[in-house]
Amino acid sequence: MEHQAGEHEGGEAAAVTGAAMAGAEDQTDAPRRALLVRYLASHDQPCPNCRYNLRGLTAARCPECNLALQLRVSLVHPGLVLWLTGLIGLSLGTGLAVMMNVFMVLRMMERSPMTRQQESQWLWAVLLPALVLGGLLTAYVRSRVHFRSWHRATQRTVVGTCWMLSVAYLIFFSMVIE
Ligand SMILES: [Zn+2]
Repeated sequence: MEHQAGEHEGGEAAAVTGAAMAGAEDQTDAPRRALLVRYLASHDQPCPNCRYNLRGLTAARCPECNLALQLRVSLVHPGLVLWLTGLIGLSLGTGLAVMMNVFMVLRMMERSPMTRQQESQWLWAVLLPALVLGGLLTAYVRSRVHFRSWHRATQRTVVGTCWMLSVAYLIFFSMVIE
């Protein structure tokens, strides 16, 4: 348990950064370009693309890599690394289950029908897990917006559960399917 101030509330705070948008110069209107120049007059800010220090810039374009720049608001703690870790974990199990379904369907199409035992194996070890894991993955992807506002401990529990579900399914699958 850590109690670093702003660790989980951090997602609601904001900071101003420069961001490169190639070929989107039209979206940056004159007042915003002026704000960017004013901001960079007194701040060291690396170019988001080439890391060149943009301090003292007089145009909304990086002099080093020539990409258009804009001033925008961003989160202090994007906090997506942990979310992505969970996504990868849950995707492993879901991917395996979905792939096995495709494999089973292809096998069914080219060969004689499955035996009763194979049928129940397919239902419990492949089809059902694919539906459950697929549903959980969909819910997880949809939770992305709320994920940042969750407490750090909750985030870790959810991400850990994602990996545990996938590992549990891999073990279950290797034991059931010969
Ligand atoms: Zn640059």
